[in-house]
Amino acid sequence: MRILITGGAGFIGSNVADAFVGSAHEVLVVDDLSSGKEENVPKAARLERRDIRDPGLGAVVAAFRPDVLCHHAAQIDVRKSVADPGFDAEVNVVATLRLLEHCRGAGTRRVLFASTGGAIYGEQDFFPANEAHPERPVSPYGCAKLAVERYLHYYAVQYGFRAACLRYANVYGPRQNAHGEAGVVAIFANRLLSGETPVINGDGEQTRDFVFVGDVVRANVLALEHDLVGAYNVGTGVETSVNRLYDAIVRAAGLSTQATHAPGKPGEQLRSCLDSALLERKTGFRPKTTLDDGIRRTVEYFRKASR
Ligand code: NAD
Repeated sequence: MRILITGGAGFIGSNVADAFVGSAHEVLVVDDLSSGKEENVPKAARLERRDIRDPGLGAVVAAFRPDVLCHHAAQIDVRKSVADPGFDAEVNVVATLRLLEHCRGAGTRRVLFASTGGAIYGEQDFFPANEAHPERPVSPYGCAKLAVERYLHYYAVQYGFRAACLRYANVYGPRQNAHGEAGVVAIFANRLLSGETPVINGDGEQTRDFVFVGDVVRANVLALEHDLVGAYNVGTGVETSVNRLYDAIVRAAGLSTQATHAPGKPGEQLRSCLDSALLERKTGFRPKTTLDDGIRRTVEYFRKASR
């Protein structure tokens, strides 16, 4: 199949691109390299360096005629979305809609959309949250992801699109950007390995559901194989505090550095954890990588990258 992966030079998108190229699909990556890197794109894929807001994208999509759109390009920073909701919506909503229109024109009907669990459910009523949990986004980023899910439903009804919205938990692993605001595992690992002392915001007892990127890749592959439609959580169902996460990273790095604490960030979610039972029922998906194993592989990656 011909698969268009937006954001395919980034952390998750490039790992997904590796898997699709490995299954002999023809892959076109569209990425403006604002945070992604050319070296992440698999050799067997073609890279079109372009902002998804660029009007010229229509001609690129028309020429490639993708069977599948795998949409990972996004403004990914929750705090930036709060500071500039208009910019967040330009990329995450408006450019995404233009892209869907280009795909519609090119005959594309299958979509894999990188959505989010934590930011869509907001502060949870129960743990772990399944897909029936109320959707109460508390950031422009979460609103934008939910809006695209709704638009994809419209595209399904109106034009017969078949879209799987994969609501990721907190994804971590090799190639995550260690210099952004998101990606606590990458940030901690990189700082520790550079001899710096990481800073934990607040008391560190806030929790997240950390899922290894290899498991997220498998969720994408299975969603395509099983022709999934609708919203599916992709997480581990395990809540891990930032303090516990920090300890695991320090151990994997063979260090004993104590973190410093800074005041908590206002508006930061306290707890988040996703139930992926629906995805398991439909596809047999189960996260295979334990936190300690995933952290070990991630620290190893950052150690090699820093040499
Ligand atoms: P990332 O920053 O590594 O990847 C995003 C990629 O998109 C980058 O390569 C970047 O250069 C590219 N990009 C950004 N804006 C673009 C634009 N306007 N035009 C073209 N390319 C653009 O981030 P990631 O963590 O790999 O996230 C991938 C997707 O998964 C995003 O849609 C994100 O919202 C979603 N997601 C990530 C997580 C997580 O924990 N990392 C959780 C939930 C959802």
